[in-house]
Amino acid sequence: MPEYRKPNNNVAPPAPYNGPSAQEILAMRREFLMPNHILYYKKPIAIVQGDMQYLYDSEGRQYLDAIAGVVSISVGHCNPRVIAKTIEQIKLLQHTTTIYLNPMIVQFAKMLAEKMPSPDMKQTFFTNSGSEANDLALLAATLYTGNLDILAVRSGYHGGSRVPMSLTAVSTWRYPVPALPNIHHVLHGYCYRCPVKLTYPSCGIACARDVENVILHSTTGKIAAFIAEPIQGVGGVVTPPPEYFKIIFDIVKKYGGLFVSDEVQTGFGRTGSAYWGIENWEVIPDIITMAKGIGNGVPLGAVTSTPEIAAPLDQKIFFNTFGGNPVSMAQGMATLQEIDDQKLQENSARVGARLTEGFQRLYRKYEVIGEARGMGLMLGIELVKSRESREPAPDATADIMEMAKDCGLLIGKGGLFGNVIRIKPPMCITSDDADFILDVLDDCFQELSDH
Ligand code: PMP
Repeated sequence: MPEYRKPNNNVAPPAPYNGPSAQEILAMRREFLMPNHILYYKKPIAIVQGDMQYLYDSEGRQYLDAIAGVVSISVGHCNPRVIAKTIEQIKLLQHTTTIYLNPMIVQFAKMLAEKMPSPDMKQTFFTNSGSEANDLALLAATLYTGNLDILAVRSGYHGGSRVPMSLTAVSTWRYPVPALPNIHHVLHGYCYRCPVKLTYPSCGIACARDVENVILHSTTGKIAAFIAEPIQGVGGVVTPPPEYFKIIFDIVKKYGGLFVSDEVQTGFGRTGSAYWGIENWEVIPDIITMAKGIGNGVPLGAVTSTPEIAAPLDQKIFFNTFGGNPVSMAQGMATLQEIDDQKLQENSARVGARLTEGFQRLYRKYEVIGEARGMGLMLGIELVKSRESREPAPDATADIMEMAKDCGLLIGKGGLFGNVIRIKPPMCITSDDADFILDVLDDCFQELSDH
């Protein structure tokens, strides 16, 4: 079994922890939390402290966090420059709602507008989560277009409340309750498991072109919106061929729809080559939805679009009690500032390239790796029982995750079959951290292939 090694000796030791043990927390969790809280590990750990890209458990053990609170910690846990601004705001004013004027919300909205891929996209509504942001985006699209049908993508994940659950196209996340009508799922650009069993590029990107068939056969012939993640997160880092979204964009426009880019995971520079994931595919969306990394750990989501698209929302009262809360706004602004000041988009490209190169080395060494893919620090490794059959290997994936954790590395997993390792660390990780990830994974894959 590969052994624990400390990711970084040159950081301050954790504060002493005197709270309940992992076992005690687990027992309380079973008793007092509803059963639909998932745990990653067979031997769960209690995480009680964070310091940039590192986490500490209740025993004081340090871990490198390569999944970042499920892609939410963009600039580091408890980043001192960010929390200084948040604490300043907490001391001044915590909450009033948007029924009064306050500078924080408008300043942050202006800052976001300046980041948008088009100058027309300048109006924002802040929410507390990605689910709420997606729900509101589709409400806006439906009102603006007057059309009812919505397209989402196979393997996409858009949240857990009722509308986003209906958009989500991974059966493990869908409860047996009626889904929202008028949502139709189109083929994903998943070349490794091509939904139409063709090969890129001779396929002519048939998956994208089929969107027109879905509109003609399954809708009224007009659509309100198409929503997608530029690179799928929960669905297993599915990275489409470069033409995929451009083709779909034209079809969506032909049938009267708005293009909604769910940037909850891909936004804010994580893909390295662009600030917004969708820019990698040369598409300018009509609406962008955000959450997770925008707030670096506070409950913060947002929808941004043009004044024209947002205008019909004015016909009724719409209110979100904590949306635009000054504390979230302070942390959001400080987070975006930190991404710029520390050049974290560039860092994502640089460290991401080092990881990608390393994953290719691992691919050449270990048969269990079917494909390594992704961009910047949005990376995935798909595990298979055999490269010929491409049969998913979820057990091997779970074993690698557990072993990596015992070595001091926290990683994630995803995909319809739970067989894709997800590496999406805070964007502040260094080349040394990347080498740590590669060393640990190499040892874990070695152990797996030896047994
Ligand atoms: N969209 C995407 C792409 C996501 O990954 C998630 C969360 N995993 C959501 C939406 C939903 O966000 P939340 O959990 O904040 O509601």
